[in-house]
Amino acid sequence: MFVPDLLSRGVTQALARACVTLDGTTLTFADVDDRASRLAQTLIEVGVTRGDRVMLIAKNELEFLEIQVACQRAGASLVAVNFRLAPAEVVAIVSDCAPAVLITGPGFEKLGAGISVRIHFQLGVDGSYEERLSRTRPLSRVHLDGDAIAQIAYTSGTTGAPKGAQITNATLFGRIASLTTGLDIDVDDVFLQTLPLFHLASLVSFAYTISACPVVIVRDFDPADTLWTISMEKVTRAIMVPTIISALVEARGSYDGDLGSLRTVYYGASPIAPVVLDQALSTFECEMAQFYGMTEAGIATLLGPADHTLGDESRLRAAGQPLPFYELMIRRPDGQPAAVGEVGEIAISGPGLMHSYRGNPDATAAALVDGYLLTGDAGYVDDEGYLFVSDRVKDMIITGGENVFCREVEAALLAHPDVADAAVIGLADERWGQRVHALIVETSAIDDGALDEWCRQRIAGYKCPRSFERVEELPRNAVGKILKHVLRADREAGSLG
Ligand code: ATP
Ligand code: MG
Repeated sequence: MFVPDLLSRGVTQALARACVTLDGTTLTFADVDDRASRLAQTLIEVGVTRGDRVMLIAKNELEFLEIQVACQRAGASLVAVNFRLAPAEVVAIVSDCAPAVLITGPGFEKLGAGISVRIHFQLGVDGSYEERLSRTRPLSRVHLDGDAIAQIAYTSGTTGAPKGAQITNATLFGRIASLTTGLDIDVDDVFLQTLPLFHLASLVSFAYTISACPVVIVRDFDPADTLWTISMEKVTRAIMVPTIISALVEARGSYDGDLGSLRTVYYGASPIAPVVLDQALSTFECEMAQFYGMTEAGIATLLGPADHTLGDESRLRAAGQPLPFYELMIRRPDGQPAAVGEVGEIAISGPGLMHSYRGNPDATAAALVDGYLLTGDAGYVDDEGYLFVSDRVKDMIITGGENVFCREVEAALLAHPDVADAAVIGLADERWGQRVHALIVETSAIDDGALDEWCRQRIAGYKCPRSFERVEELPRNAVGKILKHVLRADREAGSLG
């Protein structure tokens, strides 16, 4: 099966239009198309053959899109690595995928120098990348092989070591087709990507690119700069995660620029606390929409703007309905479908399912079952087909025989005006099996008794934390997810609390 690449439609419709902008510098669709073809030719000249891996370690740079498209055109797989990983974690990914070529962005040259590859290109620093592109003739346009692996996307590593999800050209195209059909993208939209492009969230910017819309990227999120960018570039739609939304809500207080162009803020990647959503709706005065998805399946559901009306609390707790071509099944432990409203493991089918985890047939066989991806998330679907994500199966606490979803307890804690951040984990307990333990970041001192009372007014007694711990901050990964396995391991080792 042959499929077009990420630029094809944009290029035919909008050659001279802005394609990607960073810090006021813009590449047009024609520029990105030409540069991607020169880079594809360069990759072939340095000996890259079909299936070879090209690793990219960079913040969000103007070159990201051309690199992804060049890999597609050269038949190589892009491995865009989380730039926040520690060197040892990068080394683990390098040994997992053995890249032939490495491309580093500014600031990552030293890390890159320690990685053994056939050739190492450096963006920005000495002009050698630009020089190479300018002296290489563009590869003539090629049709892509649908089955070639376009990307190896490593999972966020929230529950353990990141896993390399292999995504074919056809899958990438299917993921984007679902988004372009499911989002109402307008020809005059300007999309803002605040999230790292190595993450699943890049799919949304790809959906705008393939629709011939300009995409503005921020290199590394900064609240004041991002607000300024929204007003300067007249951004109409933006993608964020809850931690970014909170930071922007706070920064808005001291920024008086005009954000009137903004029509939709998309968010996802981790649950949003109702209190943050309420603040966001009143701060941005625009539509909000939520995505739910994962590296292994793409973006699978959308909770659209109409379900974000203040006052309709029940809908705001949902993660939405399946995007076009996706289908959900809630599975009981025996593999049978659960009833409406019954909690089970969320399973997803559709055009976006990964091909496999690289080099890990056992994990692949455990995750891809009967045409579905088993997500590792627990949830239920209501009688109108809305998905509710209860928690990750691994984060669910069983205390005294009762299931406790940390997410619900965290939402109760976060509603307290003096709680800035909260994480709930299960710790081993002789009497209860597991006990509910809360870590909180407080803005002013609250005693345990008052917190307990606050929780009891909002959630059932067995869900209320049995112990509280104050911390300066919570460990989070590059997209703001709390690393609960780190919290659990630290406490189980007895080093803290
Ligand atoms: P790892 O698989 O390595 O532990 P990860 O699951 O965090 O990391 P991703 O694929 O980036 O890696 O994230 C997908 C997960 O993020 C989902 O399985 C789900 O737990 C969570 N998630 C994504 N969107 C939402 C959402 N809208 N609401 C709640 N959780 C979400
Ligand atoms: Mg996962």
